[in-house]
Amino acid sequence: MVTFFSRAELGMQAPRSVSRNVAPTAGLTVHYGGGAQRIASVEQAVDRWLRWQAMHMSPGGLGTRNGGADIAYNFGFDDWGNVYAGRGLGVRSGANGSNEGNQTTYAACWIGGKGETPSAKALEALNWIIERARAEGGAGLGVHPHSKWRATACPGVPLRNRAADLDGRQDLPKNFGDLPVPPPPEADEDEERTYVTVGDRGADVRSWQEKLMAWNSNDPDAHKADGDFGPKTARWTTRFMNAVGLTPRNPDKPRVGPKTLEAMDKAVKEGADRFGRDHPFEFTHSAHIRRGDRGPAVQEWQEALRAWNSRALPRFGPDGDFGAETTEWTRRFMVAAALVPSSPDNPVVGPRTREAMGRALAGTAPAPSSGFDLGPYPGRLLRQPPILKGDDVARFQRAINAWRPGTLEEDGAYGPKSEQACRTFQGEAGARVDGVVGPVTWRVLRRRVR
Ligand SMILES: [Zn+2]
Repeated sequence: MVTFFSRAELGMQAPRSVSRNVAPTAGLTVHYGGGAQRIASVEQAVDRWLRWQAMHMSPGGLGTRNGGADIAYNFGFDDWGNVYAGRGLGVRSGANGSNEGNQTTYAACWIGGKGETPSAKALEALNWIIERARAEGGAGLGVHPHSKWRATACPGVPLRNRAADLDGRQDLPKNFGDLPVPPPPEADEDEERTYVTVGDRGADVRSWQEKLMAWNSNDPDAHKADGDFGPKTARWTTRFMNAVGLTPRNPDKPRVGPKTLEAMDKAVKEGADRFGRDHPFEFTHSAHIRRGDRGPAVQEWQEALRAWNSRALPRFGPDGDFGAETTEWTRRFMVAAALVPSSPDNPVVGPRTREAMGRALAGTAPAPSSGFDLGPYPGRLLRQPPILKGDDVARFQRAINAWRPGTLEEDGAYGPKSEQACRTFQGEAGARVDGVVGPVTWRVLRRRVR
């Protein structure tokens, strides 16, 4: 089944301008993201899509001086069978690399990369896009690789072959079954397994790497949290386990389970307390920075966000690129620090924000709410959709904020953000990750924040 994500659902920026100068008689052009994308979850795919939009609309994006009109593509699609709104139908793309390509075809981009193979569900989503472009967007029967219009490796070998299969066909070939399916999203993970280890990939691994980073980012095997449990992460993990007296049975294949996570939380907390007292964060940059900016001042701010909350910037880390993720975490910091950004969607980091961060990191800011008693389990499961409302939801949100300041708006409505916070909490607490607040999650959270 194919699911369509609208621009509003994705939280995309409005286009700067829209050109309807397109006559898609030649059909559709297929792209990929290039490089190694290694998308392990829908959440990551959404993030990548938003990042592409920010990139395309930044100065220099799509070969423009001040930034492109919008994300380059008309549609995106991922390995889980989701279709992403881009410019949409009836709008000229900016992706195909030649005037003819943009004039006569739409552009659809797989959220995947070089050397990677689109899943059966991705191909199903591509079929859906083609059918819709034909039925509602006036597209002809052609399906072309980007490389038709200019010399490029895009969209990679599997999709180039696929485009050749689909090109000119009225009945689109299906044969989806014989292709590998991507790793399941978090919710479908094996419930019995309570640890991650070498060879695992995904959100839990990334979360563990973030913790290792917070514990010791100077470790010789420290690297970006890439969600891939390889030999470096194994060595780093083994060093951590040895340091806290949890000697792994097999040092080449250490298992990170609830015990290790608990020891890590303790170690990081102790480290953070020390950091707060003895090493106030010193900013060396003073420029005003905001979404779309790049460079050392941005990186320094990202490192400060990390020092403030070791879980900040989970996907890209301090990469010197002020994208959607940094925007979101800057907003969270501002909310937690009771600063009012002049524009919440586009917060600007200037002297006032840095000063507040300095105070927060030095530990002189008011302590986050603690000693809060969540109270007994209210008796109903909190889950969504539909969005549940009530005092029990508000209490859950307050507890989450006591656990991790600035995570949620305490609006008493259990929506996608509350569910995500629940999952994060469950993951870190070593509980079953299902995004549902039931008696167990409630009890663990109550204990944790009291
Ligand atoms: Zn391309």
